[in-house]
Amino acid sequence: MRENKACAACGGAVEAVPGLLACRACGLARRAELSFGDPVYEGLDEKEIYGPSKSRIISELVSDLSSFRPGGGRLLDVGCASGEIMKAAAPAGWDCTGVEISHRLAAEASAAGFPVHAGRLETLRTPDSSFDAVVFYDVLSLVEDPRPLLGRAFALLRPGGAVFIRELNASFHLRALALSGLAPLRSLGLRPGVVHNWNYTPAAMRALLSGCGFEGVRLRNSRPTSGDPYATGGRMGAAAVGVFKSVFFAAARAAEVLSGGRVLAASAFAASALKPRAGS
Ligand SMILES: [Zn+2]
Repeated sequence: MRENKACAACGGAVEAVPGLLACRACGLARRAELSFGDPVYEGLDEKEIYGPSKSRIISELVSDLSSFRPGGGRLLDVGCASGEIMKAAAPAGWDCTGVEISHRLAAEASAAGFPVHAGRLETLRTPDSSFDAVVFYDVLSLVEDPRPLLGRAFALLRPGGAVFIRELNASFHLRALALSGLAPLRSLGLRPGVVHNWNYTPAAMRALLSGCGFEGVRLRNSRPTSGDPYATGGRMGAAAVGVFKSVFFAAARAAEVLSGGRVLAASAFAASALKPRAGS
């Protein structure tokens, strides 16, 4: 495994904390041992995870896409799973292509009528400047190295095109992880903190996008999945977790508005950024 001495997002100094390599400057935290492979949702409802639990997250993305380019354009969804985002974006005028590493999920998205490349983004044979929008929703946390992927997305976008990203907010999850070691939470079986290969703070995402040549970076809180599809609530049960998530998200959104968008405290954020037009 390659040793990362400098932060992949901002180039700052990285220090080892238990299980992670974390940047002191932007907060990007990489798992010390990256893990790959198909997600295994044992005992969980995969259809719920990819579909209904994300329906409001997906409608917010479609609304962002429509604000960016009313009437649509060409869209590439990287990590499209069974195609839920493409199904929601197509009626808004988006001509969608998917990339999906799981051949089983790629076949499901294809069956829904979309062209899907079953494999990695790096092996997609499409000319540069082909797309108006590239989407990475809950994908960049799982990869080996986000920088080359964003670099490829940058090349695939036409000048003036935009990338749309959703990620868990490491500022929330790494704190929640620390709290979940406390006895009262442990006894309830709560697992509110999630750690992936790459854990992004809003500052880390800004630095990463700027470092890849994007400009006009915008971030906002992203609402959580509805209910408790990942069963992180232990004995609290899905209904109580759902209520807690809604209340916490409302508070995070209030803080976002009151701070003029500077404070993003929710468990996830959405980012967008533009590929500069020539000469700008
Ligand atoms: Zn950093």
